[in-house]
Amino acid sequence: MNTEERSKAIQGKIREKAKELLSSKKVDVIIGFGEGTLPLRATPIFVRTPEEADRLIWNSFCENNLATYLHKLSPFKVGLVVKGCDARSVIALAHEKRFKPDQLFLIGVPCQRMVDRRKVMKAFEGEILRVSEQGDEITVEGDDFKKTLKREDFLYPSCQVCVHRNPVKTDVLVGDPVEESSLVEVHPDVKEFEKMSPEERWRYFEKESSRCIRCYACREACPMCYCAECFVDSSNPKWIEKGLSPSDIDFYHIVRAYHQSGRCSGCGACERACPMEIKLTYLTQKLNQDAKEMFGFETGVDPDAPPPLSTYETEDRQEFIK
Ligand code: SF4
Ligand code: SF4
Ligand code: SF4
Repeated sequence: MNTEERSKAIQGKIREKAKELLSSKKVDVIIGFGEGTLPLRATPIFVRTPEEADRLIWNSFCENNLATYLHKLSPFKVGLVVKGCDARSVIALAHEKRFKPDQLFLIGVPCQRMVDRRKVMKAFEGEILRVSEQGDEITVEGDDFKKTLKREDFLYPSCQVCVHRNPVKTDVLVGDPVEESSLVEVHPDVKEFEKMSPEERWRYFEKESSRCIRCYACREACPMCYCAECFVDSSNPKWIEKGLSPSDIDFYHIVRAYHQSGRCSGCGACERACPMEIKLTYLTQKLNQDAKEMFGFETGVDPDAPPPLSTYETEDRQEFIK
């Protein structure tokens, strides 16, 4: 079965399951994807009645990590459409007790990897007006051009490196599991970052963060950024100023990355949300890689494995506290 056929079959099953869950009142709302208003986009939607379930779609542009909505809907029973990375975030959030187990029904989708819309847009001079998927290809059309692209050449870096495309824990799986393998061994940006000296790394970090406008879209897109008051907004204590001074911006980026250690699923939603196209995942993916090497831990892969940075034992080494 090619990607288009698989997506259509998955879409049908998502709709069917959503209708069943809403009709039986097992959930109050289904959070999934609907058609975006622009080409190359799908948008998160909230479906509350069985009749609305036919608005749910599945295709190569269902890129958001929908686990980010969980902490905003706490009184409701939620049916959530999850890819491998979303399901990992759900497990990480369960460790942090962000919802009650009976509040959530997971509709798991074995993921076909998502298409990098910015990469597609950069491949064309004119405005893209229509996009369609056929087999394992996508056709892009504008006023005076029409071109067919190989899907695999336009995947997000986080998807190229992903080895957990099948959701680990779900209540129902719609679609046959995909074979787990990465297209590249190491995230391309982490690979470049690791080659640099400490001074080069700092320069690279400063160059990226210097474009930040502090819109916090990266924070809002991330399921693991759920604090009622983020440290950047706190006025008592006041950790950073509100302006655009480089030291304040750097501080935000460093703290954000460290807050994700051992918690980030590597979904890449933060980077995709950034209007300034600032690279963010080289830091979080590097920390993910370090957590794997040091503790054998990958976020949300084993529901029973305690997160290393929020777990301690009295025998832990503590020379560093001297
Ligand atoms: S990171 Fe993995 S599970 Fe998530 S969208 Fe990409 S390929 Fe799918
Ligand atoms: S930090 Fe970025 S890559 Fe990691 S879970 Fe949050 S949105 Fe996903
Ligand atoms: S989304 Fe981009 S510009 Fe906005 S705060 Fe995050 S890094 Fe800065």
